[in-house]
Amino acid sequence: MCVSVRDDKICLMRAEIISIGTELLMGQITDTNAAFLSSQLPSLGIGLYWVTQVGDNQGRIVEALERGLGRSDIILTTGGLGPTEDDLTRESIAKFMGEEMYRDPELLIWLQGVMQNNFRNTNRQMTSNNFKQANLIPSAKAIPNDRGTAPGWMVEKNGKMIISMPGPPSEMTNMWQRHVRPMLAQKFPGDILVSRFIKAYGLGESALDAMIEEYLHSNNPSIGVYTRPDGIMMRLTAKAPDEAAGREILAPVEAGIQRILQDYVWGFDDDTIVSVVGKELKAKGMTLATMESCTGGLLASHITDTAGSSDFFKGGLVTYTNEIKTSFGVDPSIIETKGAISPETAEAMAKAVRLRLHSSIGIGITGVAGPDPIEGKPVGEVHLAISDGIRSATFMGKYRPPRADLKSRAAYAALFNLRAFLKQS
Ligand code: AMP
Ligand code: MG
Repeated sequence: MCVSVRDDKICLMRAEIISIGTELLMGQITDTNAAFLSSQLPSLGIGLYWVTQVGDNQGRIVEALERGLGRSDIILTTGGLGPTEDDLTRESIAKFMGEEMYRDPELLIWLQGVMQNNFRNTNRQMTSNNFKQANLIPSAKAIPNDRGTAPGWMVEKNGKMIISMPGPPSEMTNMWQRHVRPMLAQKFPGDILVSRFIKAYGLGESALDAMIEEYLHSNNPSIGVYTRPDGIMMRLTAKAPDEAAGREILAPVEAGIQRILQDYVWGFDDDTIVSVVGKELKAKGMTLATMESCTGGLLASHITDTAGSSDFFKGGLVTYTNEIKTSFGVDPSIIETKGAISPETAEAMAKAVRLRLHSSIGIGITGVAGPDPIEGKPVGEVHLAISDGIRSATFMGKYRPPRADLKSRAAYAALFNLRAFLKQS
């Protein structure tokens, strides 16, 4: 079948994920199963075109299966394979296929063994509804579950496939890695998708589109552009027989984009801005400390999200009030004459924290998180400063509420300004 990753440019098997569970539709859990599976399919050369979420309702699950198999070659479902009344995936597939379920003797023996083991350990009673997990239909094969009691189902119909896996993420990922993925790799040999991510900052999406226009219409690799709080991401995807051939297709396009975007590009693939500046700081033998007001410690939190940050990060102070700012070394006369929301106060914060925490570099952030203006400064005005004791750089950003977004943008701006600062030192 010939369809594509982006605008019908690459030919692939079509897959669809159906995540089953009312808790998903009520916002009680996040669909991490779909996120995991979608990250797995490109390297199998399988294209994902739809992700559907459906509640624990047989009629709607059957409808989702009908619609799914009408437009896709492979359906991957997760959830609804448990023993309880509301676990209806097996029943729904049976109905959709027009087949009767039967209790499979071999599966039943396996299930009894696993349950006896579990119940011995947990002291719980085995109830008859557990046995429905040993049900099959004639078109279904059981997929072993090495982590739980619900086997998966693998159903084939007219060259199309339904693969059902359990909801608990650890059971699902284990079943996928050990049984489903190897089976799909064998069944659909051929080209795979290899991706490279290029990460840039400081450009809007339309400006970037205009700059790399010549590449945007490429078929192989295809290019996708999207924005995140830490910048603008370009995903280059090549279709090739193997990883090495894919990398060869990607390399010239990557080099071309980098030539155009130059210093806007700050990283690739799994790089984070913290890992990038952290590497730079370590290479220079430098350390970092932060004094944050409006970001409330978010910058320190981002920094410490990266493993190994203790190699360069000494610590951070959240100095929310003027009194606390001055008690940690910010000159009160600066706040009085220039205001708490000013480049001068940000710079005084950067210098003070550098001295207090004995770091090579200090960062200060002060701004108006909202909802009301402060000192006549509007919501979203943020001043940040970076100082190494000799040189200081200040930067003003204007960010839009809500608070959480504004704080996140300001914290990332501090990290990207630090990257620029380090380039000059
Ligand atoms: P179920 O197999 O439908 O009974 O699901 C059992 C548990 O697995 C749920 O209560 C969730 O905690 C988890 N779960 C089910 N579906 C998903 C999903 N799509 N993403 C993440 N967790 C899930
Ligand atoms: Mg469920």
